[in-house]
Formats: sequence, C-alpha cells, structure tokens
Amino acid sequence: MLRTLFLTTLCLAFSAASFADKVVLKDGRTYEGVVLDENDASVKIKTAKATLTFQRDQVASVERAAGGALQEREKRLAALDPAKPADYLAVAEWMTGKGKEAYDLPTLRRLCAIASKLDANLSFDAQMLLGKSSEALGMRREAAMCYARAKLSKPANPEVRVRLDDLRQGLFDDARKEMEQLAAALDLVIQDRFEEALPKLQKAGALAKSEDAQRLMGMSVEELTRDIAKRVKCRTCEGAGEASCPACGGKALQTCSVCDGTGAKKGFSAGKEESGISNSVCRTCFGIGDLLCVKCKAERDIEIDYGYSVKRKVHATAGHEADALRAEVDLIKYVLKGSTRCVVSIHGLPPCPGGKTPCGTCQGIKYEPPRTPPPKDKIQLFMVEVVDCVKGQKAYDVVPAASTMYDPAAIADGCMLYRNGKWLK
Ligand SMILES: [Zn+2]
Ligand SMILES: [Zn+2]
Ligand SMILES: [Zn+2]
Repeated sequence: MLRTLFLTTLCLAFSAASFADKVVLKDGRTYEGVVLDENDASVKIKTAKATLTFQRDQVASVERAAGGALQEREKRLAALDPAKPADYLAVAEWMTGKGKEAYDLPTLRRLCAIASKLDANLSFDAQMLLGKSSEALGMRREAAMCYARAKLSKPANPEVRVRLDDLRQGLFDDARKEMEQLAAALDLVIQDRFEEALPKLQKAGALAKSEDAQRLMGMSVEELTRDIAKRVKCRTCEGAGEASCPACGGKALQTCSVCDGTGAKKGFSAGKEESGISNSVCRTCFGIGDLLCVKCKAERDIEIDYGYSVKRKVHATAGHEADALRAEVDLIKYVLKGSTRCVVSIHGLPPCPGGKTPCGTCQGIKYEPPRTPPPKDKIQLFMVEVVDCVKGQKAYDVVPAASTMYDPAAIADGCMLYRNGKWLK
C-alpha cells in the first residue's frame, strides 16, 4: 500500500515537472529556462529571451527540471568547434531525434547553416534535415527553400525532387491565399482606406510576389506595409507607438526587494558614531531604494555625496548601476576610489528615458503620416500583376530558387561558438 502510494506520488511529480529549470525571486518574479551557473554569490539562468544573473540574496528558490535534455543541449552546444563542422550537424540530428525535448528552431537553423557553410559536403544532409523539420511544422516555404539548397549540391537526387514536387501544390495554395489578401489590400490602399488595408497587408506576408513588388511598385511589400502603418493611428497607443512598461508601470524604476525601498541594510540600527554609509547601506540598491527597470531599459544619473559642497554624478543604465558606481566609488568600503573620503549618501535622480515599451498592437510604429500619398499608379500596376497570377493568367513557379548552400540569414551575426548560453564570434 505504502509502496503504491509512493509510486503514484513519484509519477505525479514527474508528470507535473516541466523541462525547464525555474528561478523564483523573493519579489515573486519567476524565470524559466536553463540554470547555467549557481553559487553562493549569484544564480545565472538562460531564458528564451535572455541570459540573466541574479544576486543570491534576491533569489527565493531554484528548481531544477526533471528532464535533462535542455542541460544536455547546453553541454553539446558548448563543445562545438568550427574546426569540426560535422559536430554541428550531429547536434542538429540529436535535436530532431533523441534530444527533441530540447528542440528549438532558431538553434537548428543556425547549426545547419554553420555545418553547410563550413563544409559543402555536409550541406545536403543538413539542408534535408532542416527541410524535413520545417515541413513537419507546416512551414512549407522554408522547407522548399531548404530542399532547393540541398538540390544545389545533389541536383539529380530523387528524394529532393519528390519532396519538392509534393510541396508544390501546397505552396500554390499558400501563395494563392496570400495573393488574394494582397490584391484586396492593394485595392484598399488605392482607395485611401489605410486602416482596413493594414491588417490585410500584414497577413499577406512579405513574401507574396515579393520579386515583382520591387520592379513594379518601386518598393517591397514590407516597405509598403510600413508606409501604410505610419498613416494609421493605432487605437491602443493613440499613435504614440509606445505603451507604459508593464514591468514598472511606467515609472522606469522598481523598488528594491531586498530593503523594501528603505535603502538600509536589514537589521541595521543606528546609534554608533558614523562618518559614512558603509555599515548601513543596502548592498543591492546602494542605498538608493530603487533600481532602474531592465525591461524598458531605463537610464538615470546617480548622485554621490561625499560631504563636499559639490556632489559627484555618474550615469547608469538599467542593470548596470554597480558598474557605473564602481567607476567612482569603492563599493566594499564605500569611499571615493583611491581615497579615504567616505560616501555620505547615494541618491538616484529621476530616470530618463525609460518607462515605455513598444506598443504591441502597432509594433511600435508611430503615427506620422508621410506628406506624400502612396504611389497609387505604381501600386495599381503591381495589383494587376497579382490579380493575373491569382486568376492563373500568368504563370509563376512557387518553388524558390536557391543561390547558396545555406541560409545566410541564420548566421548573419557570424557567431559559431556557444559559450555560457550565448552564441559568440
Ligand atoms: Zn519598466
Ligand atoms: Zn535596497
Ligand atoms: Zn500602438
């Protein structure tokens, strides 16, 4: 009986556990990802968006994930070396097979691009792998692009040809839907109905008939979408393009969770004769009581008072207050660097800028209608072409042409080394 109960509990525990590690801060914020490093001073976690380091005293708990696939991925990535291109393909294969719990498409794209770029002999396998993976996710155009790249190295390979032919009909259907959207959107633009045109333009996708857009319209569909977006006043932000930062409520500051905004060390009681703040100061916020909001990338000046008539100032950006202060102050003894002059107080000036994040509805595009109207005659030309394609009066091939054996965009930053949770050059 006891044994059964134990097993049930164990199963429940496993099924409830996610694959991600979890760091819970004392202020209630929770981050999921892979814990890269954990010691007495700090905890470092890699989330989907960024690698973050927290001071140990900010952290309430660290929960390790039951599944080790993410940790294993970090290990495998960290061992990669551009001198051994085949290893990149091996990690890609692992990630689509045994390590599928740690699958992520941007990493897979990068691995396949690096393998293909460094060794043309690996290109076929890498591009086929990425193509199949994209196809499984329903991303037909990306899959076709990969197969087209694979075809460059093995033009006569029957598997590539069969896969591309199979994709063709689906691609036709996709393209037709996009082109119908696009034709309707262009028609609305010509009628000056920008607000109705905008969502259709965004849905049509930048790839719809993109090669003809430049030639006939003088700009890409993306450029037209951006131009029209500037002419539409977003209802969410009233055209400002930005919204109040959700993390700090627009204040650009967050109250220090260690001292609850008092700026003083926990349990410190005044009374002793003191000349500076080295005994009393909160070591997290340096006595300021609040920290700049990292989410909206706030900045401000910090004033340091040594008891002189003139106060010294440093400029700090969110998350780097300590670095800014360290240029001026010995943060262990709280004295002016290279002197014995004690810091009397540290004071944060009002933040600027900060408190704003790009509006999600309009993707941060401000209402600033260009003085000249859109080039309607050119848009008309492009629309006629698109309509002809939809009607089938003009032939076009939906299978993309490849000019390189890898996707240059996947390694545009040139980073091939993976260290401490980040891709580096
Ligand atoms: Zn903020
Ligand atoms: Zn504090
Ligand atoms: Zn907006």
